[in-house]
Amino acid sequence: MMRFDIMTLFPQLVETVLGESIIGRAQKSGAITVRTHNIRDYTEDKHRRVDDTPYGGGKGMLMMAPPIYNCYRAILDEQSAEGFDGRRRVIYLSPTGKVLTQAHAAELARDYDNLILLCGHYEGVDRRIVDEIVDEEISIGDFVLTGGEIPACILTDCVARLVDGVLSDAECYEKESISSGLLEYPQYTRPYEFHGVKVPDVLISGHHANIDRWRDEQAMELTKKLRPDLLPTDE
Ligand code: SAM
Repeated sequence: MMRFDIMTLFPQLVETVLGESIIGRAQKSGAITVRTHNIRDYTEDKHRRVDDTPYGGGKGMLMMAPPIYNCYRAILDEQSAEGFDGRRRVIYLSPTGKVLTQAHAAELARDYDNLILLCGHYEGVDRRIVDEIVDEEISIGDFVLTGGEIPACILTDCVARLVDGVLSDAECYEKESISSGLLEYPQYTRPYEFHGVKVPDVLISGHHANIDRWRDEQAMELTKKLRPDLLPTDE
């Protein structure tokens, strides 16, 4: 069981994405819990403001520290009222973080029971809130998005599918791209022939040792061609 608490200005966005399909089902079955927390509900400002201009000048608006801090405290209070005392990690989704990898997602799934995710928006957040409450910053890639909601959904999806009970069969990710150290071999389903292209003979041979060997070869070939950086070096 893994609990995700997502601090955001746009809870609906996150709920819509994570409410469907496998992650939605995992919430219903209780394999994971996802709670969104609207940072705006914790502002002390009478106009419900959550952002302000940066000291020193510059473009754009920055999210202020107090509403985020209040939101974070409310999550901790809610957890203790519910008797939840799991291993917790607070993560700020940020382009300045380390880029997410499958190996890191697996560590998070293994080492923690609760991920508290902070989604920035506008020009980001006041540095003091990161220094005070955040354990690590994670980026989902070397590009900049308008907000941390999509990155938080990506991180949640990626970690959640490694949590027991979320996928029906552990096999599902053992030979998958990246998890296995290689890209996945090509897969085929019905119809047998599509636009004149037939399924490779070996896959309908019924010979499992040959199928496994073919898949391993294909995975290696594909990785060499598309992602040689994934292969171990000779040094
Ligand atoms: N001014 C910030 C900077 O240069 O690092 C960028 C802020 S970005 C426009 C707004 C928010 O989107 C960030 O606070 C972060 O939460 C999120 N974000 C944008 N790109 C991201 C990425 N590649 N990975 C994770 N979060 C990202």
